Amino acid sequence: MARYTGASCRQCRRENLKLFLKGDRCYSDKCSFERRAYAPGQHGQMRFRKVSDYAVQLREKQKVKRIYGMLEGQFRRYFEMADASKGVTGENLLMLLERRLDNTLFRLGFANSRDQARQVVRHNHIFINGKKVNIPSFLVGIGDVITIKEKSRKNQAINESLDAVARRGIPSWLELDRDNFQGSVKSMPERHDITMPIQEQLIVELYSK
Ligand code: SF4
Repeated sequence: MARYTGASCRQCRRENLKLFLKGDRCYSDKCSFERRAYAPGQHGQMRFRKVSDYAVQLREKQKVKRIYGMLEGQFRRYFEMADASKGVTGENLLMLLERRLDNTLFRLGFANSRDQARQVVRHNHIFINGKKVNIPSFLVGIGDVITIKEKSRKNQAINESLDAVARRGIPSWLELDRDNFQGSVKSMPERHDITMPIQEQLIVELYSK
């Protein structure tokens, strides 16, 4: 799957928000957003007086795409799935993104960032309900049990991430069994499980034009 490969910290500065894309570094004083909280580029520190509704909606979409590491085409497909489902489209969209396997691993603490979680999945470290799964976009469901492969349990990155997850906390829809390198899906994620400041309605308005 194609993905954005530019500088992660630049994306935070563009969105004027810490997007937590680089794992441990995001929680340290090395975070470049803490040091330079203005947009990148020559005009990054200029203040513009008027911002159109369209620009606000576009920025919100870009922000969510960046948080979950999506490119446009794939993000659009999630929106169409969300729109075709029952319920509130914006919330459906966020819930689909949350249920991705890469996000789920990040949330459980098996990776320090969604980017790292994608690598963990692609490098065949994961079993779901006893079967190998190496597709980061796999959508987890209630009752799924995610396990780190026996041979991968000494992996330094995975262990460091598990040590660090206490700082972030694990959302209520997931449960971690640290000793057995296992996580389970207790329920579907809900809107309150997403603590990043996201106004999903703006994305719905953008795509509904
Ligand atoms: Fe964003 Fe993390 Fe870079 Fe800070 S360290 S700017 S939070 S990606």
